[in-house]
Amino acid sequence: MDAREMSLKYNLHSWSAQGKLNPIVVSKAEGIYFWDQDGKKYYDMSSQSVNSNLGHAHPKLVKAIQEQAAKIPFINPGIVIDVRAEAAKKIVELSGLEGAKVFFTNAGAEANENAIKMAKAYTGKWKIFSMYRSYHGSSAGAGMLTGEPRHFANEPGAPGFVKFEGPYAYRAPKACKFESEEAVTAYYLELLENQIKYEGPQQIAAIFMETVVGSNGILIPPKGYLPGVRALCDKYDILMVCDEVMAGWYRTGKCFAYQNFDVIPDLVTFAKGCTCGYIPLGGVIVCKRVAEYFNDHKMLCGLTYSGHPMGCALACTAIDVYQDEQIPENVAEVGELLGQLLESLKAKHPCIGEVRYIGLFSSIELVKDKKTREPIVSFNSDPEGIMPKVTGMLVKEGFYTYGHENMILVAPPLNIGKRELTEAIEILDKVLYSVDNML
Ligand code: PLP
Repeated sequence: MDAREMSLKYNLHSWSAQGKLNPIVVSKAEGIYFWDQDGKKYYDMSSQSVNSNLGHAHPKLVKAIQEQAAKIPFINPGIVIDVRAEAAKKIVELSGLEGAKVFFTNAGAEANENAIKMAKAYTGKWKIFSMYRSYHGSSAGAGMLTGEPRHFANEPGAPGFVKFEGPYAYRAPKACKFESEEAVTAYYLELLENQIKYEGPQQIAAIFMETVVGSNGILIPPKGYLPGVRALCDKYDILMVCDEVMAGWYRTGKCFAYQNFDVIPDLVTFAKGCTCGYIPLGGVIVCKRVAEYFNDHKMLCGLTYSGHPMGCALACTAIDVYQDEQIPENVAEVGELLGQLLESLKAKHPCIGEVRYIGLFSSIELVKDKKTREPIVSFNSDPEGIMPKVTGMLVKEGFYTYGHENMILVAPPLNIGKRELTEAIEILDKVLYSVDNML
């Protein structure tokens, strides 16, 4: 039995009907590429769910794992170990949250689970706001934060999770005729404030947001929106929580995406890029006032693997590598090229409605008609499997990424060069001609 057969027999694969799967079997991964068992090479254009920000098999990251494994591979969270303390110190310093502390988790969903609990404990309130078209994880609480069809399996779930419309100018209600970015911001902030009033600010513990919405199509907050949310949080005594699981770790050019938008949140959740996924690690950065609350109130959060030494050692090294290899500079430079290439694709392909990009975080919105903006597949409905066909064509050509609704995500490792990016986008260009012909 080969690996594919064995996997299909014994593994349940995420987010799929199991019967029709035909997964790739990978035999080697290095840098921005991986290879299947037949030796075919793929450009990893989504960094494995926007995770492997430093690419595959980075020697310094591999060495950090080996060294920690040889030293102390595990010790309980209540016992002090150098790498756990150092990782927290480095993360707090990068966050810009003066006097903050870190509670480590294993992954993004768990980070959000614990942020929900902390927000409820600190505020004594119980309602939690999050956006439609967001993804925050799929466990019981984080899945209720998630504002797209992947949360349906969690419903009815716990009470108190309220969804609001985040800014999305391209698909705003038809009556909206925005003349400026400021008008977009004002409209969506007004909607949010109304909803806060309707739901009762005295009941609302926190507003969760993906700082830049990731898997639902790289929705970048318009100018002034995040400071506006910050002001509403301050006005109504609500905690502002930025989910940086996907947008964090230099994906947008800054270590954390909120650093592009002139705001300081109260809680920050992170995972993925802090270890590039080589070892699972996530966490919550907790601002000073909330951290101090837990000085004399028991913090009812705990995990056997909280601050796992292997993950923390790796995070310490990854943080250094981001600096040593000038990743922020590379993201700025190659990200600019990415934007130009995407704009030129949009100009020539009738199937592209909009491209959105910040740093090396981007998405292409496919439409049937540029003018009407009708998406290539309706929301949560793709009975003919059009999007899997599109991503299937890309993968076949060696451009590995995934789609969501009518969008294709493009988010390569942050150490990609200009030449590699240009080559990969040439593949995308070729496939988009076939999509144009499908319309
Ligand atoms: N938050 C965001 C923004 C994400 O993109 C994800 C996963 O993609 C999560 C949370 C959940 O993280 P995990 O899958 O590590 O639990």
